[in-house]
Amino acid sequence: MNSTSSTESRFEQRKIDAVTVYFGARGGKYPDGNSLWVEGREESLIIDPALGMVARKDRLPHVDRVLNSHCHEDHIAGNHLFSNVPWHLHEADLPGIQSIENMMAIYGFEAGVREAFEKVVVDRFHYVPKPDALSFRDGDVFELGGARVRVIHSPGHTRGHSFFFIEPDEVLYLGDVDLSSFGPYYGDAWSDLEDFERTLELAREIPARHYATFHHIGVIDDRGTFIERIDRFAAVIRSREGRLLEYLSQPRSLAEIAEHRFVYRQGDDIAYADPVEIRSMGQHIERLVGSGRVDEVEPGRYRAVA
Ligand SMILES: [Zn+2]
Repeated sequence: MNSTSSTESRFEQRKIDAVTVYFGARGGKYPDGNSLWVEGREESLIIDPALGMVARKDRLPHVDRVLNSHCHEDHIAGNHLFSNVPWHLHEADLPGIQSIENMMAIYGFEAGVREAFEKVVVDRFHYVPKPDALSFRDGDVFELGGARVRVIHSPGHTRGHSFFFIEPDEVLYLGDVDLSSFGPYYGDAWSDLEDFERTLELAREIPARHYATFHHIGVIDDRGTFIERIDRFAAVIRSREGRLLEYLSQPRSLAEIAEHRFVYRQGDDIAYADPVEIRSMGQHIERLVGSGRVDEVEPGRYRAVA
């Protein structure tokens, strides 16, 4: 056996050789998430310290560095617990941790929504800027002594979103490529639909013994299940686009598209649903117009080409 589980529900964790997965509340459902601690002979680091680590603040593991898969509020919520060690993010997301202004630019909300969400990021997710945070790039390796963590840049969710491949245990940490039934999230200013699609193709080709995600799924231990989950996850993008094309049998504006809901469900109580729908489905519109499948029949109104 190379893994053990703790069943104490509030502080559930699982050890896979050098890796310990600290599960967040409710299996790491937002606003919480699952954090990974990697212990080497010389150094130990924590990946994406979440609200679940704040709940464990009286029993934290030893940490020499913090790695963030990307700069989103739920992934950095526990960074402040390790304020005296270096924090590392991909160079493309690094500005977000250096100031709250940059952090808010990642989401790209308009005035009004922006101020409300900034308060959430600071008060509920304990955002603390770190101007001297450090950057990493694709292919960088953190050698911990007997264990190492390799960066795999996987943009789309944010510009700098990165996977971490942990050896020798072969744990692939997928961050917010979370394999949930919700599907891929590309609704921020710094998100990109087509980058996300390329990232999904990349992820599918990486062999590993364990696949870990920040939310929901936790850890998958066999490749067959992983392939099934990632294919279902990727299919959500095609489903959104298919439903959009159907809806565009009549000319529609982006505001109508947002109100109809393609990312969220009708009736979901999501405070920021409109801007996320507009940003997400706007990217679908853009490429459908580009490929001639949708026409802009009058300024700001779109219809599918029959
Ligand atoms: Zn995220």
